[in-house]
Amino acid sequence: MKVDSLVALSEKLKIKYILNEKMALHTSFKIGGAADIFLCPENKEQLAEILKTAKENGIPCTMLGKGCNLLVSDGGIEGAVITTLSMQQIILVNETVILAEAGATLADVCRFARDNSLTGLEFAYGIPATVGGALYMNAGAYGGDMSMVVKSAASIGKDFTPVYRKTNEMKLGYRQSIYEENGEVITAVVFDLEVGDKARITEDMETIMAKRKKSQPLEYPSAGSTFKRPEGYFAAALIDECGLKGHSVGDAEVSTKHAGFVINKGGATCNDVLSLIEDIKNTVKEKRGVELSTEVIHLGR
Ligand SMILES: Cc1cc2nc3c(=O)[nH]c(=O)nc-3n(C[C@H](O)[C@H](O)[C@H](O)COP(=O)(O)OP(=O)(O)OC[C@H]3O[C@@H](n4cnc5c(N)ncnc54)[C@H](O)[C@@H]3O)c2cc1C
Repeated sequence: MKVDSLVALSEKLKIKYILNEKMALHTSFKIGGAADIFLCPENKEQLAEILKTAKENGIPCTMLGKGCNLLVSDGGIEGAVITTLSMQQIILVNETVILAEAGATLADVCRFARDNSLTGLEFAYGIPATVGGALYMNAGAYGGDMSMVVKSAASIGKDFTPVYRKTNEMKLGYRQSIYEENGEVITAVVFDLEVGDKARITEDMETIMAKRKKSQPLEYPSAGSTFKRPEGYFAAALIDECGLKGHSVGDAEVSTKHAGFVINKGGATCNDVLSLIEDIKNTVKEKRGVELSTEVIHLGR
C-alpha cells in the first residue's frame, strides 16, 4: 500500500518511521510479517497529525503498545502501525494521583507508585503492557484490574480532537473497554491511588512477580493467556484436563508449565498458532462442552 503521504509528514515533523518493518520485532510472541510503515510519534500532537493524514489518504492505522496481547498475521499489517513507546512520561499530579502517557509501561508506573509510597497498583506489576494497551484491554491479575485504579484518560477522538473520559464512561469490563468500540486512541491515563507503606508495597510487588515467574512460561515468547476465562471455569484447567499440555502445531505449543499459554518454541508462524488455537477450542468443546474465546487479538492481512 502506498504510504508516501505519511513518509512526507514524518520527514516534515521529524517523526521516526521505518518502512516494511517486521512486526515479529515488536510483539511478545515474536511472530508477524511487515507493516507498510511503522511510526514512532513522540507526543500526542504528532500522533493526531499521523491519524489525520492517514485518514485523508485512506491508510488504515493500527495502534501498538508493547505488543503483548497480539498475534500478527504472517502477511503483516496493511498500512500504518503506530507505536506509543516514545511517549512515556510519568508525573505525580498530587499526593495520590499519577498521570502516565500512553506508552509508559505498567512496570514503570508501578515502580513510580512504589517510589512515592502509593498503593493500589501492586496487582499490575508483571503484566507486560503500556498503560494505553492495559486500559484498552482492562488488563488485570490477582484480583485487580485497571478499572479499580484508573480515574480518567485522555484520547484522540474520531475528529482528531482530545476527548477526556472518566472511568464510568469507559465501559470497563472483563478484558474490554469502550476503546475497542469507538476507535479512540488513548494518549494518557490518570491513576488514583492511596498512600501506603513503601516496604509493604515493595514486598507485595515482589511476591506477585515471584508467583508469575513460578507459574508462567516467561522463558518463551507468548502473548500471555490465550483464552478468556469462560464463566464458571478456568481455561488453563480445562485445557490441562483435556490432556493438551505439550500439544503442538509446528513450533507453537501449549505450554507444559501453564496450559493457558500458547508459546513460540522458536520458529512458530501465525498460522501455526491459529491452527493450534482451533485444535484446543475443538477439543475443549468436544470433551468438556465449553466454548473458549480468545483473549489474544489477531491482527493483520
Ligand atoms: C507473559 C505475559 C503475561 C501476561 N499476563 C497478563 C495478565 O496477567 N493480565 C492481563 O490482563 N494480561 C496479561 N497479558 C496480556 C497483555 O500483557 C495485556 O493484554 C496488555 O494489556 C497488553 O498491553 P500492550 O501495551 O502490550 O498492548 P498491545 O498488545 O500492543 O495492544 C493491545 C490492544 O490495545 C490497542 N492499543 C494499544 N495501545 C493503544 C492506545 N494507546 N490507544 C488505543 N488502543 C491501543 C492495540 O491496537 C490492540 O488492539 C500477558 C502477556 C504476556 C506476554
